[in-house]
Amino acid sequence: MEAKAHIAIVSIPVFTHQVSILEFAKQLIHLYKNTFHVTCIIPTISDSPSIASKHFFGTLPSNIQCIFLPPTDFEDLRNDLTLESQIQISVSRSMPLVCETLKSISTSSNVVAIIVDTFAYEAHQFAKDLNILSYRYFPCSAMVLSMCLYSSKLDESITCEYKDHPNPIEIPGCISVQGTDLPDSFQNKSSLAYKLFLHRSQQLCEADGIIINSFVEMESETLKAISQKYLCGTTPNVYPIGPIVQTRPNIQKNACECLLWLDNQPPNSVIYISFGSGGTLSHEQINELALGLELSNHKFLWVNVRAPSDKASANYLSNNEVDPLNYLPLGFIERTKGQGFVMCGWAPQVEVLKHNAIGAFLTHCGWNSILESIVHGVPMIAWPLFAEQRSNAALVTNGLKVAMRPKCNSKGIVVKEEVANIIKGVMEGLKSEEIGKRMKELQKFANCAMMENGSSMKTFSMLALKWKRLGRPIEVERWA
Ligand code: UDP
Repeated sequence: MEAKAHIAIVSIPVFTHQVSILEFAKQLIHLYKNTFHVTCIIPTISDSPSIASKHFFGTLPSNIQCIFLPPTDFEDLRNDLTLESQIQISVSRSMPLVCETLKSISTSSNVVAIIVDTFAYEAHQFAKDLNILSYRYFPCSAMVLSMCLYSSKLDESITCEYKDHPNPIEIPGCISVQGTDLPDSFQNKSSLAYKLFLHRSQQLCEADGIIINSFVEMESETLKAISQKYLCGTTPNVYPIGPIVQTRPNIQKNACECLLWLDNQPPNSVIYISFGSGGTLSHEQINELALGLELSNHKFLWVNVRAPSDKASANYLSNNEVDPLNYLPLGFIERTKGQGFVMCGWAPQVEVLKHNAIGAFLTHCGWNSILESIVHGVPMIAWPLFAEQRSNAALVTNGLKVAMRPKCNSKGIVVKEEVANIIKGVMEGLKSEEIGKRMKELQKFANCAMMENGSSMKTFSMLALKWKRLGRPIEVERWA
């Protein structure tokens, strides 16, 4: 048996979840050199990883090993299933292979803990069978964790659909949210997605601990309510270790052009627009956004422009061959030369957010994007699309007050005048100054949390020391 303590990770076929859990592993390896070895087991749904993911996996340190399982067949799944259901089912189908791989790793090395993505919760059982500690890695906010922990109680107490509930939804320790701002999984009580979600949430209590990518200073009331078990009596210990964000820029040749363009812009003058790794807008919305950007007269960098779809997460599971720029309003690119830079590919987001030309971030409110914006002190325009993004938008807008959120018309469209107004709101005037000031304060807290003796770093060290002790080859210490 090797001397190092071995941590096994079970991830899911979503690149941004893989990045988050592996960045956590990188921190562990970096802070405790020569102590840990990590193996990450990754179920897949396609044979061809994206360029961004190839680059990311190519730069992992040698003591993090990734095992990609053969793609799961999900052709037989109904295509009206939500993204979450498709992910959940494909991960569940990979579990026999996950189990086999975990067994094989644990016979040849000293596995001290298993850390599983929140969708891979079934692997907790294998940890129990192997008599190993298991943790859930929750790559979202403490507010969303509260929603999960409280979901059974909400289900009992609110009998109608949440979107039809006349009052805001109250969850201990959280800001109140409209039913429509609860995550997608809550939205149709008779759906398979809701049943899978409730089950996944109940299984949170099966873990020995929940590792969450948030930090105490940002969500103190929420984390307090969770740890005092106000939401669910059987909640395991929660370990806030965030903000964990990408540490290595994923720069590609074409993407660098946008950084060169930023180099020539004045400080705080550019609004950065990205809808994450898969967010998609309808054709009407693309037009309104483009025309609104033009109307605002502010500089902009718009990346990952995608072909339209009426399904906001369409890009995750299919690839449209048509040039997405064809869907922009006629003459838009020519008219906005000098004002904006538009690209279809993957951008080096962390490098962009670090750039002093960036004044604000129009984001789809994926949790990684929000944390990256906070770490770099960039105020946001919250433009949520799917999954738990509306809850995140409520948190950054009404809770933390570091973002502004545009209003939709009765058809759910943000019209060009509203786009221009919200951009002006976040880039100019008193409100923009207030948001900017609060964001700088939050940035300071975020950075302090990750410093030596910072709140997250202390929690991180506590976990790592526990695992390190378990890694010693003295059996009696195993459960100390
Ligand atoms: N990202 C990037 N370049 C892009 C688009 C996204 O580097 O062009 C990264 C971004 O920095 C973040 C992640 O992809 O780390 C997106 O994760 P998030 O949770 O915000 O949204 P998701 O893609 O999961 O919806």
